[in-house]
Amino acid sequence: VSEFQIDKIGLKVGLEIHQQLATGKKLFCNCMPIETEEYLTNFSRKLRITKSELGKLDPSAIFEKSKEKTIVYFGNPQSSCLVEQDEEPPHDLDKVAKETTLIISASLHAKIFNEIYVMRKIVIDGSNTSGFQRTMLVSVNGNIEVDGKKLGIQSICLEEDAARLLKDSENVREYSLDRLGIPLVEIATEPVSGKPEEIKKIALTLGRLLRATKRVERGLGSIRQDVNVSVEGGGNVVEVKGVQKLDQLEKVIEYEAKRQHGLLKIKEKVEKINTGIDKTKDVRDVTDIFKECSSKIIQKALTQGSIVKVIKVPGFSKIFGYEPYPGIRLGKQLGELVRFFGLGGIFHSDEDLHGYGIEDSQIENLKQILNMGPSDAFLILAGDEKKMDVIIDSLINRINDSKKGVPAETRAATPSGETVFLRPRPGASRMYPETDIPPITVSHEEIEDAKKKVPRSWEDMVSSLQKQYDLNSQLAIQIFDSEYLDLFENICKDKKIPANFVASILCGTITNLERKMPDAKTLRVTDISEAFNLLKNGNIAKESLEIIFESIMSGKAKSMSDAIKVNALGVLNDNELNKILDEIIESNIMIIKEQGARAIGPLMGLVMKSLRGKVDGQKLNQLLENKIKTKIT
Ligand SMILES: [Zn+2]
Repeated sequence: VSEFQIDKIGLKVGLEIHQQLATGKKLFCNCMPIETEEYLTNFSRKLRITKSELGKLDPSAIFEKSKEKTIVYFGNPQSSCLVEQDEEPPHDLDKVAKETTLIISASLHAKIFNEIYVMRKIVIDGSNTSGFQRTMLVSVNGNIEVDGKKLGIQSICLEEDAARLLKDSENVREYSLDRLGIPLVEIATEPVSGKPEEIKKIALTLGRLLRATKRVERGLGSIRQDVNVSVEGGGNVVEVKGVQKLDQLEKVIEYEAKRQHGLLKIKEKVEKINTGIDKTKDVRDVTDIFKECSSKIIQKALTQGSIVKVIKVPGFSKIFGYEPYPGIRLGKQLGELVRFFGLGGIFHSDEDLHGYGIEDSQIENLKQILNMGPSDAFLILAGDEKKMDVIIDSLINRINDSKKGVPAETRAATPSGETVFLRPRPGASRMYPETDIPPITVSHEEIEDAKKKVPRSWEDMVSSLQKQYDLNSQLAIQIFDSEYLDLFENICKDKKIPANFVASILCGTITNLERKMPDAKTLRVTDISEAFNLLKNGNIAKESLEIIFESIMSGKAKSMSDAIKVNALGVLNDNELNKILDEIIESNIMIIKEQGARAIGPLMGLVMKSLRGKVDGQKLNQLLENKIKTKIT
């Protein structure tokens, strides 16, 4: 295992930022982008190979087809109609989405086309009912300044968002139509060399430019990054999809760079090995040998009707387990590949097979059947007989590819910041013209108008936010970057509650609760707004906010009024309050006699236990102090 030096491997990263636009409607129909968990309709389709109208089959479509899945789509009439169901042609392009894309293009100094062509991009995972996504190239050759350096923007597209994945099991995949067709702007940067933290800065700067337009959606899932990563000598660019957070972006780039450089080190070891797997004699059905084995994984597969096959890989002894960097092994790559086809995993000869319940006699048996020498390796896999041939071909291809370096793949980002195999990278035959929509013209006036509407820089906006609400600079940036800027301005409009307090609840308290409860429900903006209204009217105390939010997020309360009831919140009148305080003082009079004025500490603790959230803490403290004084003198 050697030291990994990320700045010495010729790392190149291109970003593709996908940002939902806040137009309040879909791109090609009038449905609203409302996410709910209630679905009134559903229908299913078999995932089909989409033959492009150019007459060429996309290789990755065939690959996906071999998985044979049923796709079920769930819809709600508010958020989907016949357009989303692909039963009706698209309506006219939404004007606001078009205008917003022009403004974003102008903000990035990109050259806007006078005519926009709607294209169909083949989608093979079922995330689009029609089998394609509509996309329009709006402008090219822009730039943005990041830390004093100019960075090229290759293209800006306006496109439809995909359906939202609800569930994915071996044979069925479920999508919600609520997200399908939401307008999305895709910004692609030129590939840059730099450290992951510098790439993160680029993504942050672009995100802020987009937020400065005040025309984009905010919050988790409304902005997603795809990254194209390559290293010198790797031979291919790998596309990593679905990064949602900036900290995750940094980790994903680091992991992917390490994986690719690791694959190059594996290449160095294997390029001279003469593998030449001969499918007729190096692949054998060994189901009979494993009928009696004690491996739970294989036994489970056998009861499901699987067969077991073994592949001899000449000259590959100690290669599958070779680990140039921690966690980077060819064996792991092969495991990810078979998982794509729904297999649980793969065994290889560099592993401790005893640990999996495979015995020496069985291993010896395999070696004999395959006529194995000491330098050869083998792979064992169990699965559905129908799929086996495609899987074995893919494995052999992947092993042969290990001699070339980094295969062209599409990978998915994991929440922890690694990447896993998603599918082979699609070929170039993925786009063809949309025949249902004529070309869209962009007039000179529209372009001039967009230039006039270019927003101020985000730095400008943050500093005026800071001045207007007398915020500290940290909170001003946090509020600007958060999903709550509009809400914040609404709450603070009448200046009844200090802005710093509002900002710290929105950016601090709520974020902390989210961290504490990873499965928490998302707070609705209307709930937060209602809670602040109750506070303004004196119906609840400041301290109640956190309690209310916690019980809604944890699911203990279903609504605001429910949360107040569940927690017995609500302001006491002064008579009730005095009565409760007097009772507490009388039953703890000994503490006051012993400790005098210092009794405020323990008594305050007792009082807070029964009154937390009902009365302002400062007010309580004052009242209690006065009452204690009268008892001492
Ligand atoms: Zn619709």
